[in-house]
Amino acid sequence: MTESVQVPVVQPFSFGNSVIQPGQRMVVDIPFGKLYTHTELNIGAHVIHGKKPGPVLLITAALHGDEINGVEICRRLLKLPKLNQVRGTVIVVPIVNTYGFVQQSRYLPDRRDLNRSFPGSEKGSLGSRMAWQFTDRILKKCTHVIDLHTGAIHRSNYPQVRATSKDKVSLGMAEAFNAPLIIKAASRDGTMRGTANSLGIPIILYEAGEALRFDEQAINIGVRGILNVMQSLGMLAKTRRATPKTNSLFSKKSSWIRAEHDGIARYYQSLGQIVQQGDVLAHIYSPYSDFEVAVTAPFSGIVIGRNNLPLVNEGEALFHIAEVSELGEAEKTLDAINDEVDGAMPAVLGGDYGVV
Ligand SMILES: [Zn+2]
Repeated sequence: MTESVQVPVVQPFSFGNSVIQPGQRMVVDIPFGKLYTHTELNIGAHVIHGKKPGPVLLITAALHGDEINGVEICRRLLKLPKLNQVRGTVIVVPIVNTYGFVQQSRYLPDRRDLNRSFPGSEKGSLGSRMAWQFTDRILKKCTHVIDLHTGAIHRSNYPQVRATSKDKVSLGMAEAFNAPLIIKAASRDGTMRGTANSLGIPIILYEAGEALRFDEQAINIGVRGILNVMQSLGMLAKTRRATPKTNSLFSKKSSWIRAEHDGIARYYQSLGQIVQQGDVLAHIYSPYSDFEVAVTAPFSGIVIGRNNLPLVNEGEALFHIAEVSELGEAEKTLDAINDEVDGAMPAVLGGDYGVV
């Protein structure tokens, strides 16, 4: 008797009002309401449905409408011919918060934060309804999520991945992504990450760069990171060139250092810099007196976020510092990861990854 080998049959993928056949890619517009001009508002999703079975990976950007680095990460990712060989399904939503994106704003027209409105409700505020629909129509279709963010306006973030340490799959995705730093942090109330966590869908959040700006390094680490995660999930074949050699640093605790005085600030530390307790981070001065005060690091760590606007009021967040256990080795690790990304650059632009 001969044993027959069961070849799993890939079913067509239903998404919105569309059905995507195995081996097909499509842009699907999902209606999400209207502007008061009567203009229809859609959330557009690229769907690539592979011929072989595998996870359904959702990649989202501009959930905060002014965080545009992720939009460019999505563009570069979608250009890669190797995505047509994907096992499983990739859903890429480059602009989640269409309202905010049009207004170049983090928020929705009612000034609410869409990423504090999850899981939302059918009859709630605009943000709450959008979050509800997004959860129901898109998030629940997926098995894994990568959510792309940047710092807020006038603030830049050093490339970092955030994931909850309670979920081993999320943590594995964070390690595979291979950003310089992983922040183990529980998700905040109202975020898409929180809703995904509660639905049991592994999710990581990539934070890098500043709102309303493109940051080349942040974008490169992002594209490479997503490919790394796809390889680790078995969605893409492993390439020797793209396999990371240096592991990310971990941090369990990070804090913002705030201004204790109003005035004009001069900042001395850049992103990714190692600071020791007592190091001067900035001076704040008055334009009309001799008043000048130093802002010092209350603990040692890595600068993972900073304010770029020199005009500060008391309480303003100036520097975000992450504590890591291996601070002595941190500089070497960060340099090595950044060098690896730079080394992968020609590949990302045209070689191994085959960007057109
Ligand atoms: Zn954000």
